[in-house]
Amino acid sequence: MPKFSIGVDLGGTNLRIAAVDEHGTLLERVSLSTDVSLGPHYVIKAMCESIRQLDERYRPTGELAGIGIGVPGIIDPETALLREAENLPGWAGVPVQAEIERQLGTRVVLENDANAAALGEKWLGAARDFDDIAMLTLGTGVGGGLILGGKIWRGMSGMAGEFGHMTIDWEGIPCSCGSRGCLEQYGSATAIIRIAKDMARKDEASEIFKTACSAPDFNAKCVYDLAAQGDQQAQEIFHSVGRSLGIAIADLVNAMNLPIYVIGGGVSGAWDAFAPSLFEELRQRSAVYAATEPSAEREPSSKKAKRKTLITRALLGGEGGLYGAARLPVVSGL
Ligand SMILES: [Zn+2]
Repeated sequence: MPKFSIGVDLGGTNLRIAAVDEHGTLLERVSLSTDVSLGPHYVIKAMCESIRQLDERYRPTGELAGIGIGVPGIIDPETALLREAENLPGWAGVPVQAEIERQLGTRVVLENDANAAALGEKWLGAARDFDDIAMLTLGTGVGGGLILGGKIWRGMSGMAGEFGHMTIDWEGIPCSCGSRGCLEQYGSATAIIRIAKDMARKDEASEIFKTACSAPDFNAKCVYDLAAQGDQQAQEIFHSVGRSLGIAIADLVNAMNLPIYVIGGGVSGAWDAFAPSLFEELRQRSAVYAATEPSAEREPSSKKAKRKTLITRALLGGEGGLYGAARLPVVSGL
């Protein structure tokens, strides 16, 4: 009998649930307009109801392999409690996994959302042929996921892969983590808006200033649109995003020598605007990368060609975390 699994992507603002078959084909996706700020009790109930409905609908066609849930927080590997969940106020310390299992009467797998996204890219996306992957997700913050030997690497206390808090500038901007000059302060959507607003304040004749004043919802996409239209100041912002990412990825490449680094999250949509600066910085700062840089021409799939360092965009867009969550029960051996 064919198998399917159910994946949940619990975001800071919405909740998405999907039934996916064992080959990665989407059977059905549900988006719940659940207000996550209403708290864990309310959200878990709505989530379980939707999971039950999907399960009932697809049970006649296949066997349920399991349920995986990606959450935007750090999960304690020993207690399965959410240790920290900045985007889920009121959720820290709540026995999320145990409560869902109690309501559904079956085991579920809980995982950090960036790890789930990395798993999704490994299963169906940019890192399909690789067992060792680092993934950076550039969104409101900068998240990270690490897969080593085909398995999620969580570290001693579930806190591995915090690439967003690698130092880019030792005297840089203070960060919410307590440090300063973290990648998150230079490579996230939040950073792009902050830099753009700083620029606008200094130059009221600039296009950025005009856009910031006229767009009711001024965001990183507005800055990207300006850059794409040729605005030099907006392009400068993405050069600096690229340089910051290049510094961080050079450190990762030097430290880990992995074959692939995947960049996802909303800001990765601006790839063409920041990637040239990223690669320039990377070449200068990482001899390991320079020695393993893929050539522009397509190489034959020889063993040698495989020993190249790929830095590439995520392929699944915003869906990586959802597919990765659906994959969790399979890789966890539930
Ligand atoms: Zn930080």
